[in-house]
Amino acid sequence: MAFDIEMIKAVYRTLGERIAKVKELTRKPLTLAEKILYSHLDEGMPTEVYTRGKSYVNFKPDRIACQDATAQMALLQFMQAGKKKVAVPTTVHCDHLIQAKQGAAPDLIRANKISSEVFDFLESVSNKYGIGFWKPGAGIIHQVVLENYAFPGGMMIGTDSHTVNAGGLGMVAVGVGGADAVDVMADMPWELKFPKLIGVRLTGKLNGWTAAKDVILKVAGILTVKGGTGAIVEYFGPGAKSLSCTGKGTICNMGAEIGATTSTFGYDESMERFLRATDRNDVADEANKIKEHLTGDPEVYENPEKYFDQVIEINLSELRPHLNGPFTPDLATPVGQLGEKAKTNDWPLKVDWGLIGSCTNSSYEDLTRAASIARQAINKKITPKSDFGINPGSEQIRFTAERDGLLKVFEDLGATIFTNACGPCIGQWDRSDLKDFEKNTIVHSFNRNFSKRADGNPNTHAFVGSPEMVAAITIAGRLDFDPMHDTILNKDGEEIKLDEPQGIELPPDGFEVDDNGYVSPKEDGSDVEVKVSEDSERLQILTPFEPWNRKNITGAKLLIKAFGKCTTDHISMAGPWLKYRGHLDNIANNTLIGAVNAFNKKTNLVKNQLTGEYGAVPDTQRAYKKAGIPTIVVGDHNYGEGSSREHAAMQPRHLGVIAVLVKSFARIHTKLKKMTPLIL
Ligand code: SF4
Repeated sequence: MAFDIEMIKAVYRTLGERIAKVKELTRKPLTLAEKILYSHLDEGMPTEVYTRGKSYVNFKPDRIACQDATAQMALLQFMQAGKKKVAVPTTVHCDHLIQAKQGAAPDLIRANKISSEVFDFLESVSNKYGIGFWKPGAGIIHQVVLENYAFPGGMMIGTDSHTVNAGGLGMVAVGVGGADAVDVMADMPWELKFPKLIGVRLTGKLNGWTAAKDVILKVAGILTVKGGTGAIVEYFGPGAKSLSCTGKGTICNMGAEIGATTSTFGYDESMERFLRATDRNDVADEANKIKEHLTGDPEVYENPEKYFDQVIEINLSELRPHLNGPFTPDLATPVGQLGEKAKTNDWPLKVDWGLIGSCTNSSYEDLTRAASIARQAINKKITPKSDFGINPGSEQIRFTAERDGLLKVFEDLGATIFTNACGPCIGQWDRSDLKDFEKNTIVHSFNRNFSKRADGNPNTHAFVGSPEMVAAITIAGRLDFDPMHDTILNKDGEEIKLDEPQGIELPPDGFEVDDNGYVSPKEDGSDVEVKVSEDSERLQILTPFEPWNRKNITGAKLLIKAFGKCTTDHISMAGPWLKYRGHLDNIANNTLIGAVNAFNKKTNLVKNQLTGEYGAVPDTQRAYKKAGIPTIVVGDHNYGEGSSREHAAMQPRHLGVIAVLVKSFARIHTKLKKMTPLIL
């Protein structure tokens, strides 16, 4: 049974009349994306037509999902809102703070030691405010959401860019900054520029070595990492219906890599099968009653050029398996052509590691297809040439895969089964096989392959492929291996050709799990004490900022005039500072250390105008604050662009900066105006 069937029923009750009203206003058939957007307006019933790519619109999402790294500051802020409970169903998932090293059990024990205070805080604050809590080891946020919460026609926001994964179950699901999520938790609207619409018509049927992953690898090659910006990508056509629900999730997940607001698919039988297999017959039954509202109108899909801003056609029958990379997910190369390209570019052909998992590709079907390749290596006496690592997507998948003998296949091949968590996908990988920053190649089924993403090594060349292709290349140990044509030498000296992968969409004996890792919050959490130690280095309860005293700013000093780009990374650096995401005062020690001082073109070196001495930006600012001197920051165009991070808005204000004066602000930064200094 679904967690929130009454909420889902309430959404479905209003869908029909709201969609009818939009059709009356627009006088045209609708895409699925339009149906979901217009039926989730903050004002309820639609009253006007919005311009794609221009109108700013207030929406009312149905639910929120947060991961452990971003949830810390979001929930610290929510605690200041004075609410007894979150206004919409919300969950917190502990998946980012678990490092992959020795294997699932020891890695989880270590993570629970290192980050216990963060996990305890997240659990207690969830318990207090009615938030569902998923413990460390329960799984990766987006797989857990797909298996438990996503529902066709719904709208969700999440504090992680791959929230878009839930489009595989027909949602409009968007990754946002913590501040946006806090607004919605506190019953305020969520603002979004009405997206443009890109239609992808899929014909034919996947076959042989080609997988759902190859659809998005191909789309990324066509649209590049920027091509989807400000748009929702809607997949449709007979090919779309032939894909599994988790395959659709894979495609939507990696839509983040083309910059898309989100991606989605219309409700179909694959989604119904997945809902029923994951114990949500109630959702499937409700969805079936209104299925015409849960997909685009037939007229739209018959003449997509009339209704989408851009249309792409892909014939799945002709699609070839791809490997994308290195260093960018849109550098798409069909398998078989990679050898030449690698030689030309001096990419190492020897593959050191193959990794399967992440929220992108860790479904039961993914594991069965990869296991069908691994099994052949065992049966045909082939020793894998590369190291192999697996991150199951959730405890439910791990438990079921173990029951069905899938994990044993990988273990027999020497693979390490890591925790059901992000691990190497987010650089949480203590890789011990390399000295220094050696140049090397890895293949994985994750979504991102930017420099240093997996292991912190700028010389690791990471290539993205389907789980079955990753398995084949890991066994062969070479980047130029083409399993459709090439052979591998086995222990008996025979040349062996791998058979095509075989997958099972859903477990024939059903999903099973002992403890799925979910902790339900108390009905009334008012007596729950939120756990934050006073001497904690990682967490700090927020106190409200001093309100403006309604007087003009006088006698202010210039802290820094930033030269050129000043992104959220320049204002609040990531990397080692991630561990302070829940402690405003500690993370404030990185404030503007990446910004270039326009007067000396140096970073983190500014003049203290009280002493004439040069020092680090945070130290200088703390000196002004101690002396009671207000300061301003001057920037250029598009100040605060980049990943949405409320820390970049909060830190200067926390340190006493009173105003930020720039030629223009990134839109995302102006949305944080509740927390910033005065922005001019
Ligand atoms: S598995 Fe990777 S992409 Fe997915 S949520 Fe974790 S870090 Fe993000």
